[in-house]
Parts: sequence; structure tokens; C-alpha cells
Amino acid sequence: MHSPHPNQEKKSVNQADHTHNECKPSNKDLVQLLAEFVPKSQIIREVFIDSSALKNLPEKLLHHFGQSKVILIADENTWSAGGLAAQNELQKAGYVVEKLLFPANPQPRPTIETARTLSDELRSDNLIPVVVGTGVLNDLVKFAAFKAGKSYCCVPTAASMDGYASAGSVLSDQGFKITHNCAPPKLILIDLDILGAAPSAMSSWGYGDLAGKVPAGGDWIIADSLGLENIDKIAWPLVQGNLRLCLENPEGIRKGEPESLQSLIIGLLLTGLAMEFFGSSRPASGADHQIAHIWEMEHHQFNGQLVSHGACVSIGCLSTMALYEWLLQQPLERFAYNKSNYKTMEDKETEIQCLFREPEIARRALVETKKKHLESGQIEERIDQLKNVWPKLKSRLQNHLLPTTKLKYLLEAANAPIRAYQIGISEEHLKKTIRAARFIRSRYTILDLLDQTGLMDKALSEAQLPL
Ligand SMILES: [Zn+2]
Repeated sequence: MHSPHPNQEKKSVNQADHTHNECKPSNKDLVQLLAEFVPKSQIIREVFIDSSALKNLPEKLLHHFGQSKVILIADENTWSAGGLAAQNELQKAGYVVEKLLFPANPQPRPTIETARTLSDELRSDNLIPVVVGTGVLNDLVKFAAFKAGKSYCCVPTAASMDGYASAGSVLSDQGFKITHNCAPPKLILIDLDILGAAPSAMSSWGYGDLAGKVPAGGDWIIADSLGLENIDKIAWPLVQGNLRLCLENPEGIRKGEPESLQSLIIGLLLTGLAMEFFGSSRPASGADHQIAHIWEMEHHQFNGQLVSHGACVSIGCLSTMALYEWLLQQPLERFAYNKSNYKTMEDKETEIQCLFREPEIARRALVETKKKHLESGQIEERIDQLKNVWPKLKSRLQNHLLPTTKLKYLLEAANAPIRAYQIGISEEHLKKTIRAARFIRSRYTILDLLDQTGLMDKALSEAQLPL
């Protein structure tokens, strides 16, 4: 996906020895894993994590970018969270610092247009872009720096999402949210004090984003079993191998404890690396994210605020888990396919027009849907294949998925939403979203399996959705 980076300087992950927060043994394993995999990134040169990492920003920038003017990109909130302190550290060290500040209200929209405008600002020579912020800012700067042909540095201000280390930027293009391939940051500098000072809701969003990898893994297992997309030997363990460990202390996330935040942010970073290595977001994103993206494309608000990506994923995750729990009770090995449930491409087009009012979104959804459409003969083959693989597939899914009650308990303990109404989504809206979600990506998930078998309606009426 990326050509090898010309800069062959030594790459490393540093957990500084003088950290004030002793690593728990489990965190040591995670730190080691990160240290093992960062050097395999084609772009990321260093991930530096420490309890007062910001003090090291000047020296780290000098090492990775040389002495140039710095442009700090933040919004009014992230400026107080870390931007101002970053400016002080840099100026003390003799850096000339420019700042580019977005308003906190309204927040900048993650659109390709905004990212292109930003890109023009970053083009000038000898300017090091340093983004101090979270999801949207990170996506905007990642795309803008990539288009401007620049490496950049990322200073996260909350453990709120999985995109810091990923090679994709999720931006809307004419209303349709897609993941654009870009380069991740050259340097990620994580100050655990800043993460700990972030509102606890923001860490719960990151926790929700990470919890979504449980059903996303189920979707990949289905695609693997049907021979559609094989499980990757590197990306899979990187995300799934440590998921339970990274999710194991939700109370610590709620309280902002450094050890818990450290394991959460490393879990999120490993996910980002897995996406870079695999070349797509498959290792980290399935039906749970498709559901979330629908609400993001709707600019869904609750109490006057845009609902965050992680909160949307939390509900997308539990909705998908409910569908899995229902599916695992179905004796699919004896499934009798009802041919009248077959949907032609024209049927799907009608459904898409009905579900997506924006013409451009409907057009893009149609393109994605055509990529995975099966003709009637093919669908019967698919059903036969599913019946054959089901006993084994079922046990693989059972081994992989956590019980939904457990996941719900964990998410609630982390302070993430566990019912759709908590983010202002009604039962009708949730069901409509679940029906719509499979149309926005060609990626095969449980939603396609339910659709192709004609079981979607039954599943939606019987599954214990998180209402
Ligand atoms: Zn995500």
C-alpha cells in the first residue's frame, strides 16, 4: 500500500524508564508487542508513551523532522488540553511555532473539502505539522499532510478512537463517508497525563471503538469460512490476540487510571497498525462500524452534540452482538432456502433509494452493493456452502465472541452507552440503520449473511437489540 519510507533511521517505541506509572505485567506485554510491530510500519518511526511525554516533544521532533518551523493544529478544546503546553515546550527549545486553531463549536466536520483546504496550508517548505487532538482533527491532518506530501506528528489528547496509527483517514466525500488511504504519522507522542485529564466520556468512546473489534472479528471469521477474505496471520492476532487484555479494566478507564488508559491506547494503536499491514480496515471494522458510519453520515446529534464515533460504535457493536447471539441459535446446517426471498439488483436498488435520501450517498451505496451482489444461481451455491461450513463456523464464532452480557457489562463499566436511546436512537431508527448498513460497504459481514439467507426480518424482530 505504501512504498518503503526513504528515511531509514532507527525506529523504536519508548516506554521511558522514568515513567511515574509502573507498568502492570500485562501492560509490559502490550508495550513489548507495540515495540515489536512499530518497526514493521512503513511510515511510523516512533511511538513514545510516557506520563509527561510532552516535555520530550522538542527533542523527538528534532530527531525525526530536523529543526524547522512547527505548525500546531488543534481546536479550542485540544489547545487547552495539550496544544498550549506543546507550544510552550517548543518555544522554550527555540522552535518557531505557528498555530492553526479550529473552533470547538461548531466542531470541524470530517470532510474531504476541509482536509483539502488544510492541505494547502501545510504545503510550504520546512513546516512540521503537529496535530494535537483526537478523531476528526487526526483524520483531517492525516489526509491533508498526505496530500501535501508531508510527514506529520500526532499528539493524541484522548484515548478516544483507533485511528491514530492507522493508514486510513475516514472523511466524507459529498456526504459519503469513506476510508481514504493515507500515511499514518511519522511520530506519535502520547502523554498519559493528557489522556488522564481528558473527559472520561472520551476514553469510553475509545473503549467502545475497541470493543467493536469483537463482532468485527466475527465478521472476518464468516468471510474467511466462506472463502471471501482470508484471515491474515499478522493482522488478526495483532487486534484479536490482546483484545480481552485491553478491555479487562473498564473501571480504570472510567476513573482515568494511567495503566488502564495505557493498555487502551496501545490496543487502539495495535489496531491501527494492523490496518496498515493488512492494507484495509477489515481487521478492525465490520457491521459494527458500518452501523456507526450511517449515523455519522446522518450527522446524528443527541442533546445538541454530534454523537462521537466511539459511542456510535458501542451501540453498533452491541447490535451486531445481538444478531450474532440470535444467529448462533439457528440450525443453519438444516436451513431450507426460500427462493422467494431472493433479491435482484433492481430490488436492492429500490431499497437503497428508499433508505438513502441523498442521491450521492445512494449512488455510492449502489456501487458498493453491486460488488457483492450474487445472481440467483450463485446465491444457492452460497447457501449450500454456508450449510456445509456452519457447524465449524458456529464453533469458531462461539470460541471467538464474548458473551453479549459480558460485553455489555464491560462497556457500561467503562461508561460507554449500552442502549440505543442513550445516544438518541429509537428502535425504528436502529432497525432501519441495521438494514441500511450493509449497503455502504462491499465488505461481507453478518448483515450480508442475514440478507442472503432471507433471515434479516426474523433476526431484527427476535434478537435482543440494545434498545
Ligand atoms: Zn473506529
